[in-house]
Amino acid sequence: MNLLYNHLSVNEQGHLTIGGMDTVELAATYGTPAYIMDENAIRNQMQTYLRAARESFGADALPLYASKALCFTGIYRIAAEEGMGVDCVSGGELYTARAAGFPASRIYFHGNNKTVRDINDAMDMGVGTFVVDNTEELLSIEAHAAARGITQRILLRISPGIDPHTHKAISTGSVDSKFGSAIETGQAMAIVKLALEQQHVKLAGIHCHVGSQIFDNEPFKAAADIMTRFIAVIKAECGYELEELNLGGGLGVPYTEYDREVDYAAVIREMAEITKGFCVANGIKMPRVILEPGRSLVAAAGITLYTVGSVKEIPGFRTYVSVDGGMPDNPRYALYQSRYTALIANCPNAPRTERVTIAGRCCESGDLIGEDMPLQATKRGDILAVLTTGAYNFAMASNYNRLPRPPVILVRDGVARVAVRRESYEDLIKNDL
Ligand SMILES: *Cc1c(COP(=O)(O)O)cnc(C)c1O
Repeated sequence: MNLLYNHLSVNEQGHLTIGGMDTVELAATYGTPAYIMDENAIRNQMQTYLRAARESFGADALPLYASKALCFTGIYRIAAEEGMGVDCVSGGELYTARAAGFPASRIYFHGNNKTVRDINDAMDMGVGTFVVDNTEELLSIEAHAAARGITQRILLRISPGIDPHTHKAISTGSVDSKFGSAIETGQAMAIVKLALEQQHVKLAGIHCHVGSQIFDNEPFKAAADIMTRFIAVIKAECGYELEELNLGGGLGVPYTEYDREVDYAAVIREMAEITKGFCVANGIKMPRVILEPGRSLVAAAGITLYTVGSVKEIPGFRTYVSVDGGMPDNPRYALYQSRYTALIANCPNAPRTERVTIAGRCCESGDLIGEDMPLQATKRGDILAVLTTGAYNFAMASNYNRLPRPPVILVRDGVARVAVRRESYEDLIKNDL
């Protein structure tokens, strides 16, 4: 069957492998459910972005890893080693980045409602750039910076007014959005002017992020175009030239054989042609460009291994295959009906003769990994692998039904190591008083 990615294969025993390691053996060693990630696949994607960004936008271009996609200390170390910046969206992510020793100057701090504590924590650790969402936040950052006698570098989050045709829960760049200030309504220009009046923030540039899991190049090209034009408008109206343009993330990732492959370097090149072309034609200094991919750096690298517990055929309806995880480790089907590819890891080459609903073990009918999924014939005790779970799975995991969160196992060059250990039952009650 189509395994979607080169780091997945089948060995002589007929078992699924990831990064050359036998998934059935990994399941036996680490238990199930477990997230297994190929570290080289993550590093390769980071290198692809770094190379493409520098070649297309210039040597000073910087891709950030949007760390909400998959967050634990080890991933910040990997991002640091590869020379990436990171995007953090909360005090918890900042704390994790700091614990990993990630350089604070290369952190961009996002979020549409930063609390006073968040702002203080970020300033304490010397976060390089705040991406400011709204007026209240701008004035609060100004006040905190003034009290500390510092000048805080900021970008402003701008809504370019683009509908990226993705699921509405992950569409973020239209005028009607909780994120940022819209150009169309005049609010973007108003917040630019307000930022320029402040004494303790330095307005370095503007940011946009149009959405997630986008396969079409047009929304990215439109964002590059609209944002570069807005830089020109700001220069004309305020006499101030911005030095930085952050074009966000959102590039798609194949989850099934029906999703098309994405040429990440080509999308970046097309955005760069638009930005450069406009700057040259209009006498604007080419800004330093920042990109912010999350999903496309880590999704493909990860798989989740489960153990099959039961196969229940309901005549005239459907067949349920129940696994030992579910919505607590992967809530994406429940949230946005996301499609996945699943296979039986102990016999991936067997024909996929079944059409099944993969169900989790929670007391909730919506606890599904997917419906109408092709699968090999299976039975209790088989290892079931769900592919492309590296992004927004562990990061979104919960303890619903008091299920401990699975471990994150990194494999690299034939060696597996525990990057996040499995939660224990003691972990579950450690904050209960
Ligand atoms: C989520 C997010 C990203 C990353 O999006 P992906 O679809 O995972 O690439 C980038 N920037 C911002 C502001 C985000 O909220």
